[in-house]
This record gives sequence, C-alpha cells and structure tokens, in this order.
Amino acid sequence: METAKYKRLLPPMRGLARDFYSYCKKHELRFQKCSGCGAWRHVPREMCPDCGSFDYQWAKSAGKGKVFSWSTTTQPMLPQFADAVPYATVIVELDEGVRMATWVVDIPPDQLQIGMPVEVLFDDVTEDVTLAKFRPRKQA
Ligand SMILES: [Zn+2]
Repeated sequence: METAKYKRLLPPMRGLARDFYSYCKKHELRFQKCSGCGAWRHVPREMCPDCGSFDYQWAKSAGKGKVFSWSTTTQPMLPQFADAVPYATVIVELDEGVRMATWVVDIPPDQLQIGMPVEVLFDDVTEDVTLAKFRPRKQA
C-alpha cells in the first residue's frame, strides 16, 4: 500500500462513480442491478440500457470473473506510471456478466491469458480512495 505517496490519477468522486467507490472503500464490489429486469450494469449510469428503468440497487458481486481482454503499456504516457511499465490494463468479465477495466496484480502482463480466472482484491491507495483490482484465482 502506498498511502500518502500515491501519485497516480484518482477516480472522480462524484455522481454514481462516488457511489461505486464508496463501496470499494468498504471492500465491497457492487454494481448496479436493474430493479426492472434484473440486468447488472457497469460503468454506472442512471438508466438501464436493457429495459429503460431508472430503478436499481447496488448489488454485491461475488468478485470472481475471468480475463476478457487486455492492452499492455510499455511506454508510460504519464510520468506517474513510469515505474509501473510494463503494465496491462485488463478488462475483467465478472461472473455476474459486467465487464470492468482494472489491474490484474501478482502476474506479469506477458503471462495473462484470455479466460484466466481472477478474483477481486482491494487496494487502499489513499485514505479516501480504494481501487478494486484482481489477481489470478486458483482453479478449484
Ligand atoms: Zn432493466
């Protein structure tokens, strides 16, 4: 944990993003789940893209999913990421069906595989901000 010296960009703490990250702060991964049709969605938005309902709950995810895709960065676009390269921006598909852009830690980018099982972990990067990241999951 790099609390107090975390220098990378932080997510905007406003609107529905603030709600999403407030659960991360409690080490809970929650996504919007439509009260009308039951569809999960991410990134957060007001209206269900499936049925048009504005009613939803923040439903708790089991935090398990698989690697859907990724892109590896080898040249940092910002100086704050110079010590991170090479790193992969990974799209993880949760078992609930939503996909999110995230980090997969504990594995170098060149060992990622499509479909690799992963599980969530929470990185308290500052006193106020916790990021949901993933790590490879042992196959049962
Ligand atoms: Zn819906």
